[in-house]
Amino acid sequence: MSVARVGIVTGAARGIGAATAHRLASDRVAVAVVDLDEQAAKATVDAIAAAGGRALAVQADISDAAQVEAAVARVAEELGAPTILVNNAGITRDNLLFKMTESDWDQVMGVHLKGAFLMTKAVQKHMVDQQWGRVVNISSIAALGNRGQANYSTAKAGLQGFTKTLAIELGKFGVTANCIAPGFIASEMTKSTAERLGVDWEKFVAANAKQTPVQRVGEPDDIANAVSFLVAEASGFVSGQVLYVAGGPVS
Ligand code: NAP
Repeated sequence: MSVARVGIVTGAARGIGAATAHRLASDRVAVAVVDLDEQAAKATVDAIAAAGGRALAVQADISDAAQVEAAVARVAEELGAPTILVNNAGITRDNLLFKMTESDWDQVMGVHLKGAFLMTKAVQKHMVDQQWGRVVNISSIAALGNRGQANYSTAKAGLQGFTKTLAIELGKFGVTANCIAPGFIASEMTKSTAERLGVDWEKFVAANAKQTPVQRVGEPDDIANAVSFLVAEASGFVSGQVLYVAGGPVS
């Protein structure tokens, strides 16, 4: 990347978000590591700094409008105007529909959809001012439907519609918006799914790898690599797309 940019990655204390923050920092982006967990966010920032990158830990619940406003203002003040936003933070509250509670539904919508809306609304002002921006929303193959995830698949499908609308509205300001829909990625999220199902982690990974054309599960770096491409200066003609990063075609 020729120009030093400022980016925000939500849910970047661990997993896909942390790998993305590391990758953007190595692409010369100054990165705000936004997460609920301040200590873990600081550990990610320390690791980025140790590798020669520039990063800032920002504690915030992205489903809370006041916290989002404060977090984005702090990033602008301490790192500079953010023009890259990766809406990655996510949670699962899985259950079959007949057992899913109203709270399971509201919490998942609150983080994935409201969180992405609030963050994008707060950051787009800076993108429009700079006449340049990159938004990447992390969807999922679950957007196509997944047993036990009525809330999560609805939110992940919603993010795809959100992305396409952002691409249409913000394109004239030099802003692109794209979605990445990962397949199975080894992370705390998939580890907790294995635990909930009572399946041994190694067996869970092996079973998922077997069903995947490239015969392995994904790693957080697989997604970070796709984010790096979408936010690059040279990717300005790629907008409104959903990129499935799943080791094979999905339908
Ligand atoms: P993860 O390891 O569980 O990490 C998610 C991070 O988001 C955690 O650090 C979490 O903080 C943070 N977070 C949750 N709610 C938040 C909130 N309200 N405000 C700020 N931060 C919040 O998950 P991951 O596997 O890396 O997943 C990252 C994204 O990829 C998610 O959107 C997920 O839905 C999506 N995805 C994952 C997979 C997969 O197979 N892993 C597949 C498709 C899509 P705490 O630690 O404090 O909870």
